[in-house]
This record gives sequence, structure tokens and C-alpha cells, in this order.
Amino acid sequence: MSCYPDLTPCDYFGFDHQGHLLAVGWLDGTQEYSSGSVTEEDYRHLETLIETAFQPLLIMGSHQCNLCQFDGVSGYKNLFILDQGAILVAPELILHYINQHHYLPPKRFMTAMRRIESTTTLDYKKQLLATHGQFLLKGNQS
Ligand SMILES: [Zn+2]
Repeated sequence: MSCYPDLTPCDYFGFDHQGHLLAVGWLDGTQEYSSGSVTEEDYRHLETLIETAFQPLLIMGSHQCNLCQFDGVSGYKNLFILDQGAILVAPELILHYINQHHYLPPKRFMTAMRRIESTTTLDYKKQLLATHGQFLLKGNQS
């Protein structure tokens, strides 16, 4: 899986998002990452968001954990959190990174995800459009 330092532009989806798409939790085992503890309440909320996460129509591959010594788990979903004109994108493995590898996501991400109840509402989609997220709703194109 590609690695992007937290809160840097993420070009994984191959779209020109003009810097509005920022990576969170894209760890690949080659770079250092911040570690610490996350409350169970935050963890459970993130878990719920990911379970029901809105998924774009884009065709994307799966991610595998390279931090695990053996048999890294894999995931294919991504979570898109809207925050102050930006879209923070985290792979579903962020849960695994937190739980198994003590990854500590940036405060900005934690604060923003607490504010979101679900990514399946019409309101969320409207905000996505208002945050330059059109490309996530359109699917693959060039
Ligand atoms: Zn792992």
C-alpha cells in the first residue's frame, strides 16, 4: 500500500483534487508514525463510521498491513472525513493500526470524525460536494 505522511495530499485515487484530499493513517512500515492511546469511545465511533462508510464509485485495490510481522490483515474500504474545506481520507486499516500497532491519528482527524455521525446521509453528500469531493461521487473517468 502507498504511504503518505499524515495530513499530506493523497494522490492514491488518481484524481486532481487540488490539495483538498489529505491522508490520515496510510502507514506502510517504512516510515515512523505517531503512537499513543486512543479512548475506547473514539475507537468504537471510528469503527461504526468505517463499518457503514460511504464508498466512492472508483475502482481501488486493497490495502494490507505491513506492520504486522506475519499475515498482515487487509482491507479495501476508505473513510472520507470532511473537515474545514478538506477531505481527510483514512484506509479502514486505521482501526487495525490503532488497535494492534498503537497508531495515534492526528488531533485534527479525531476531532473531525467525532463530529460526524454517519457518512451515508444526504447532508454528508452535500458537504462532500461543497468540499471539492465531486470526483468521489462520479466514479472513474479521465
Ligand atoms: Zn498489522
